[in-house]
Amino acid sequence: LTSGLESAWNKLKGEEVLTKENIVEPMRDIRRALLEADVSLPVVRRFVQTVSEQAVGVGVIRGVRPDQQLVKIVSDELVKLMGGEVSELTFAKSGPTVILLAGLQGVGKTTVSAKLALYLKKQGKSCMLIAGDVYRPAAIDQLAILGKQVDVPVYAVGTEVKPAEIARQGLQEAKKKNVDVVIMDTAGRLQIDKTMMDELKDVKRTLNPTEVLLVVDAMTGQEAAALVTTFNLEIGITGAILTKLDGDSRGGAALSVKEVSGKPIKLVGRGERMEDLEPFYPDRMAGRILGMGDVLSFVEKAQEVMKQEDAEDLQKKIMSAKFDFNDFLKQTRAVARMGSMSRVLGMIPGMGKVTPAQIREAEKSLQIMEAMIEVMTPEEREQPELLAESPARRKRIAQESGKTEQQVSQLVAQLFQMRVRMKNLMGAMEGGSVPGLGN
Ligand code: GDP
Ligand code: MG
Repeated sequence: LTSGLESAWNKLKGEEVLTKENIVEPMRDIRRALLEADVSLPVVRRFVQTVSEQAVGVGVIRGVRPDQQLVKIVSDELVKLMGGEVSELTFAKSGPTVILLAGLQGVGKTTVSAKLALYLKKQGKSCMLIAGDVYRPAAIDQLAILGKQVDVPVYAVGTEVKPAEIARQGLQEAKKKNVDVVIMDTAGRLQIDKTMMDELKDVKRTLNPTEVLLVVDAMTGQEAAALVTTFNLEIGITGAILTKLDGDSRGGAALSVKEVSGKPIKLVGRGERMEDLEPFYPDRMAGRILGMGDVLSFVEKAQEVMKQEDAEDLQKKIMSAKFDFNDFLKQTRAVARMGSMSRVLGMIPGMGKVTPAQIREAEKSLQIMEAMIEVMTPEEREQPELLAESPARRKRIAQESGKTEQQVSQLVAQLFQMRVRMKNLMGAMEGGSVPGLGN
């Protein structure tokens, strides 16, 4: 999607204002980019029309180029399309909050059940899971295992009982135990069929749930529109959870859900670990779609890992271009500690899908860098200029760390590149413009 959009902005280079004529070509690129991102056609049509109308209406703003203006309009509309604000989960005023999960087979319902329980537990709520997939005994075991992993009780009665009856008993149990939130996992099918829908309706009638969340695989693309519409009409949903956003998804599903159902995406799953569930931020998703990567999520994750002072200190250094080898080491180590390298790399703008071989490569080069930084003197770490200026110092470091002089030179060059790149990134985040769009 990014490259398509980039060509859209580029077509406005040299223009003074946005006009009906000069937005025709960029809008065509935007339309194509959205279709390629697997957004459904009716949604794309409405989007392009809204953006075009607004673009022609805006006047000249001093210091703002037309391409930047169009980026802003597109970005704002994307955010609006996805619901604008973060949509919180609703909780029952009295008695247990009941969350019913629905969706096709393999989309991640069972995984989400346990993730959600952990997510709510962290907010101080007691939870109980109900195993409602009676078609595969393995599904009940899977939930039992995940439940144990997040330390949340699982109510299961086996495969002989109808889901609605399991729901009734489970809810009774939850009330008896004074549980805050009950989450019911259900069976999915490969495609929508009447049995599944009837079963869900029965369960819904029994539970009278606070939330009915449709779990949607982000890879579904434009079929998501039809899927969401059908589920919403048939059983009535209160929102959606988008899973597997860590994968190769092109983002189409995220754009269609709200538009076709009027119901927001409330949470997103970004990995197979139990911790990988987050609120859905429309603005960040828009940023991701526009090619900023998940800069904000990235910064947030980095801050979680680094101590707050460290992070602020780092930011100050970046702003003043004093980023040195100590920071470099701290930062690369923090990145490594963030767990899966692939996830972090995936959040960096311009990085596409990362292969296991690339991850191994990245980890290897991290070790090489550490070896070289370890033999630097404190002054050299704090003043990388010393190394840039002195071949003798670089030679010494190469010898002591067992690396080549070329590798040392590369490391020094990398640090200076990083200074520039981080400065640009910080500037872009403060100024609100989009990096990588050229000038
Ligand atoms: P269900 O059939 O809807 O209950 O789907 P499951 O919960 O059994 O998940 C199907 C597969 O998708 C499992 O292998 C999960 O580990 C995987 N999965 C679920 N959520 C995510 C996610 O957010 N990211 C990734 N990468 N895998 C996921
Ligand atoms: Mg399941």
